[in-house]
Amino acid sequence: MAEKPKLALYWAASCGGCEIATVNLHEKLLDLDAAFDFMFCPCLLDTKKKDIEALPDGAIAVTLFNGALRTEENMEMARLLRRKSRLLVAFGSCAKGGCVPALANLTSKDDLLKTIYLDSPSLDNPEGIIPSGTTAFTEGDIHLTPLLGRVKHLAQEGDVDYFVPGCPPEPHQIWNVIEAILSDTLPAKGSTVGCGTLTVCDDCDRTKEEKRIPAFRRSYEFYPDAQACLLEQGLLCMGIATRNGCGAPCTKANMPCTGCYGAPDGVSDQGAKMVAALGSVMDIGDTTGLSEEAIAARVAGFLATIPDYAGMFYKYTLASSTLGGRVGSKK
Ligand code: SF4
Repeated sequence: MAEKPKLALYWAASCGGCEIATVNLHEKLLDLDAAFDFMFCPCLLDTKKKDIEALPDGAIAVTLFNGALRTEENMEMARLLRRKSRLLVAFGSCAKGGCVPALANLTSKDDLLKTIYLDSPSLDNPEGIIPSGTTAFTEGDIHLTPLLGRVKHLAQEGDVDYFVPGCPPEPHQIWNVIEAILSDTLPAKGSTVGCGTLTVCDDCDRTKEEKRIPAFRRSYEFYPDAQACLLEQGLLCMGIATRNGCGAPCTKANMPCTGCYGAPDGVSDQGAKMVAALGSVMDIGDTTGLSEEAIAARVAGFLATIPDYAGMFYKYTLASSTLGGRVGSKK
């Protein structure tokens, strides 16, 4: 019997949601198993790194690489899997744009470690230990891989063949990508697949009228109308600046889109697109006769209702945005 093509699913700096989304293929997992030798997946299988190193270059047909690059180990695995894989897919928002791990690029590595291990009010760390290097235990030594100065997305470290968006990717879209691989119908290298090209607003059934928004509210502050556009009700819904293909499950559940599919086709910076869109729907009332200072104060009052600019506009794409982050080494 002919050998099946090898499939790897690797996680770097990620939450495990991409693995859960893959398990949510449900019975299609059997089809996946029939089509591939699913041979590397650290959360499911006990394949070792040395087993991957021992493979000839290009021996793995497809690697779905999820997670951002946060540590030197993440970088090493990204390079290794690039070498061993014929198709390397940035799978999910962390690998594609940095996602939540990349929000750490808004601070320095030292400040990050200080917050986590020294300043957090829930800590019990009287000796002020910041874990690093090698620690000896009776059961054996534990080696901690060093953090990089900045969180990167996968394409910042090497050649990526395809990008699958989503935090996590929706299972029906994962299957669409698998089918495209199996039927050899993938689009041109470098394409974003497993998604649409338009925006979540294009897929959203809610009633849209002229958007005039005087202030934003948080979703815990009120029960939104189940039919009307959430943005028009004052919830910061990112649908207008987000690629479609997910099926809009969040807005169907009366929750705003948070933007996890990233920017649609033709938009290079999702956060900038959203900020520009908000500029055209912001309602600061009649400004006739007002001084520039008074108008600026009204704009500032509107902006003050947005609680966290980076977390709202760049939750999934900071590493791949024009900002990239603010401080920290370029390493
Ligand atoms: Fe739907 Fe949100 Fe777009 Fe409004 S802004 S149409 S709620 S996706």
